[in-house]
Amino acid sequence: MSTIDKPSTGIVTLKHGREKPLRQRHPWVFSGAIDKADADPGTLVVVRSQAGEFLAQGYYNPRSQIVVRALSWREDDVIDASWWRARLQAAIDARAGLATYESLVAYRLVYAESDGLPGLIVDRYGDYLVIQSLTLGIEAVKPMLIELLVDLVQPKGIIERSDVDVRKKEGLEDITGLVWGEPPPEPFIIREYGLQYPVDLPAGHKTGFYLDQRENRRWLLGQSLEGQEVLNAFSYTGSFSACAALRGARQIVNVDSSQAALDAARDMMALNDLDQVPAEYVAADVFEQLRVYREEGRTFDLIILDPPKFAHSSRDIERAARGYKDINLLAFRLLRPGGLLLTFSCSGLVRPDLFQKIVFAASIDVYRQAQIIGWLGQGSDHPVLLTFPEGQYLKGLVCRVLRHEE
Ligand code: SAH
Repeated sequence: MSTIDKPSTGIVTLKHGREKPLRQRHPWVFSGAIDKADADPGTLVVVRSQAGEFLAQGYYNPRSQIVVRALSWREDDVIDASWWRARLQAAIDARAGLATYESLVAYRLVYAESDGLPGLIVDRYGDYLVIQSLTLGIEAVKPMLIELLVDLVQPKGIIERSDVDVRKKEGLEDITGLVWGEPPPEPFIIREYGLQYPVDLPAGHKTGFYLDQRENRRWLLGQSLEGQEVLNAFSYTGSFSACAALRGARQIVNVDSSQAALDAARDMMALNDLDQVPAEYVAADVFEQLRVYREEGRTFDLIILDPPKFAHSSRDIERAARGYKDINLLAFRLLRPGGLLLTFSCSGLVRPDLFQKIVFAASIDVYRQAQIIGWLGQGSDHPVLLTFPEGQYLKGLVCRVLRHEE
């Protein structure tokens, strides 16, 4: 079997009329578009039209629905170690400003398709890197990518967190653990905008922390919350609560189904000397707990809703929409006039316009008029290619409930 860092050998021929997405630089070739393929799984291929024209080079996995992920649209590109190095370097260079101007130490270095490196995620946490390989094609070059990252970034250690569901669709098992260098110290603490967050790289959610919410934490840090009561629903380890406390919140309620996450949130608040701010840590289902607060007649000035992904496939979209509507509707009920709702969806399949419609429908159902005062999303270290809108998944709305409603 030829390896992926050798010049392309296999050939994939598309069905007649199926070349448009590739021509428009969309990097995915679905199984239904393929006429014939002569290649080994995990190796490089050249994709051609029925007429035999060159379309792209990419890597091949017949077990996946996405049979080819395109790497290059140039016939003369040689996809060898120096090609991968240049792509990594470009992604790293694009983030240089984050470290320089915002003094950030934790951010996404490589965001897969969006950085021309389909299937590869690399997050930087100070001196440590966390890598996530999502596809067979990346598995095939992983040892080389690790070597290149060591050379380019010179980390103290690299941890692998290839424990995501999408690997199953590629026929891959989970792989986690230290793959290079030394393990991070325990506790491992990162700094962001003046706050300290303990992060569990080997076992925390995603690669350890919700890096994608960074600009939204910064947004919250730009608000004045003097004397306000805040509900942080789906709080995880409490990062939004720390921002709210720093901005003067008088009372913070964290709700999450994970007791471990709530314990971590409490420790994090103490680490930042924010434990004088009265806080509640409620281990409960948010859908139920919001109803409890409604029964109690409890109200808040700011409610943050950052639920997990509700839609995993297009079949889930309707059910997801009902879930989003339910929590948003309850949140609108619990908001005082003039109060703010910071509501997120990280389901890529629920597109921004649909999400806004859901939030609108929720407000109507509870007779709350609200203004959108901000559209939020994933940070600039999670860019979205114009040719690959699927890279956009996180969106948020900031809604202010009008005072004249009451
Ligand atoms: N806002 C957080 C991330 C939230 S992740 C941050 O920025 O760090 C989603 C969280 O929701 C997880 O911590 C998970 O434990 C919790 N969760 C999932 N379903 C839940 C439910 N039905 N009720 C309460 N918490 C839930």
